[in-house]
Amino acid sequence: MMSQTEVTKTFPHPENGVCNGDNGASALFEANQSKIFKREPRNRIFVNRSLHLQKIKFYGFDMDYTLAVYKSPAYESMGFDLLKERLVSIGYPAALREFDYDATFPVRGLWFDKVYGNLLKVDSYGNILVCIHGFRFLKRMEIAELYPNKFMQLDDSRLYVLNTLFNLPETYMLACIIDYFTAKKEYKSKKEGIDCGDIFMSYKSIFQDVRAAVDWAHLNGDLKSETVKNLEKYVHRDERLPVLLDRLRTHGAKTVLITNSDYEYTNKIMNFLLDFPAQNHEKKDWTSYWDCVVVDARKPLFFEEGTSLRKVDRKTGASQLGHHKGPLQPGEVYSGGSCDVISKLLGARGKDVLYVGDHIYGDILKSKKIRGWRTFLIIPELMQEVRVWTEKVDLFKQVNQLEAALSDSYKFLDSSTVEAPDITKIKHSLRDIAYKLDMSYGLLGSLFRSGSRQTFFAAQVTRYADIYAASFLNLLYYPFCYMFKAPAMLMPHEATVDHNAPHEVPADEPAPPVVRFNSEVDITEEDQPSPKRRKQEDGKDHVPHLRAVKPHKDIIPHDDEFDSDDSEENANKLDDTVSADSVR
Ligand SMILES: [Mg+2]
Repeated sequence: MMSQTEVTKTFPHPENGVCNGDNGASALFEANQSKIFKREPRNRIFVNRSLHLQKIKFYGFDMDYTLAVYKSPAYESMGFDLLKERLVSIGYPAALREFDYDATFPVRGLWFDKVYGNLLKVDSYGNILVCIHGFRFLKRMEIAELYPNKFMQLDDSRLYVLNTLFNLPETYMLACIIDYFTAKKEYKSKKEGIDCGDIFMSYKSIFQDVRAAVDWAHLNGDLKSETVKNLEKYVHRDERLPVLLDRLRTHGAKTVLITNSDYEYTNKIMNFLLDFPAQNHEKKDWTSYWDCVVVDARKPLFFEEGTSLRKVDRKTGASQLGHHKGPLQPGEVYSGGSCDVISKLLGARGKDVLYVGDHIYGDILKSKKIRGWRTFLIIPELMQEVRVWTEKVDLFKQVNQLEAALSDSYKFLDSSTVEAPDITKIKHSLRDIAYKLDMSYGLLGSLFRSGSRQTFFAAQVTRYADIYAASFLNLLYYPFCYMFKAPAMLMPHEATVDHNAPHEVPADEPAPPVVRFNSEVDITEEDQPSPKRRKQEDGKDHVPHLRAVKPHKDIIPHDDEFDSDDSEENANKLDDTVSADSVR
């Protein structure tokens, strides 16, 4: 058991409580480069939007893949094997049993095109970065033939977004099945499906079969029973979890568990996760770490109309009749309900809540868009991403050198240039390195990028997750008064122009016109004289203000007081058509 003293030693406090805004995203920004980040990358929480922990009164947690991180690839392999058996049992070829789960293949966030049976990796705008049919990666020309402009609009009727870590086995299964049918001679591949004698299997029907098999494994099959039989094999357990929950409550915050899993499963998982003797060596019931426990929450529905809130009989696991009117009792477990009802019973306002979850749609996007909760996305793959980022530093350096060489090729050229420089070699080298980098992450590359292009998943993380980290336990490395500071969002003209760059244009050189105001007017002076007013001769009809005066410094928004939720609200009304699924 870890003592309190040992724990304090293990998680150093920041020096003087100074906030650093632990995010190195803007490498070009000089100020950021000079920052010294006080926490190791593995312990760090990364910031998209500033968040003051002191304002958070409720910490909500999802369970699956947030508190309970499943061991990879053992858990996905087990899910894949159950999927195989289910598909064979409903008539798919027994040869599927020969496939083993390959963890180097799938990456989260791919789109499955139900019409052409392709897995697509897309950028934030829907441009197709990678397209794979079965195990075959399509060439750029082939992609362009199928998808005009190599672009897809997110359309739920045609596309399914494989958003969560639970989707990894089915991502690989879709590739396996389609590859099997494509490669076997007795089947004929058509544009929208597979022909076999008098049978036609559309890719859409294959997708529906796989999806139904996944749901079956989750709801009726052996996924949960296999997991709880072998908890040590499939679930990571960390003795720092009870430490964090205790510290949150000692600090005065309330802890809330909101999971889509049922009571029976939640009880077993949470019992396992919190099965550490307390300081007085007494075993504590897992519910004693929580101010409110909600199972069967049915997120994302929970953030909308929700379902009836019922009390769970912990002896039988059955939900009581009727809906629970409150108050919420510690030690009790509730099922269903809605964000609205739970918030009212807890007395929580949207901005008081930090919700921690791994599901970009069901946990993060919906809680932020509908309820204005602050959001903390858990990305268990982040450590692997950071490992490649640091281990492959030589490749990243080569990319920088080649980009500098590319830039040099055009350095002394202007519009009088007749012959374009030969950049073929540089372009080929850049492509080779981008390929090596992609393969360092896995067959389908990084979760966040392909070459220099960010993925759709990365864009959603930036947009909806206020903060993100590999584990929620990274909260232990920050004081609860901490202010997570977002890095400055720089436009290209700010990111690439040095602060020391000369701005005076030589007299003999033409320059773009200055259209806002010229430097002869200096409103940065402290004592700006008030504009003179002159009364009309008749004393009537004078202009009250001849011009605006400089605003007081308090009216300029500062990041530490700026409530990003307000501005997000409008932005969030834009596209949110992401496939909803009910997996945990
Ligand atoms: Mg989850």
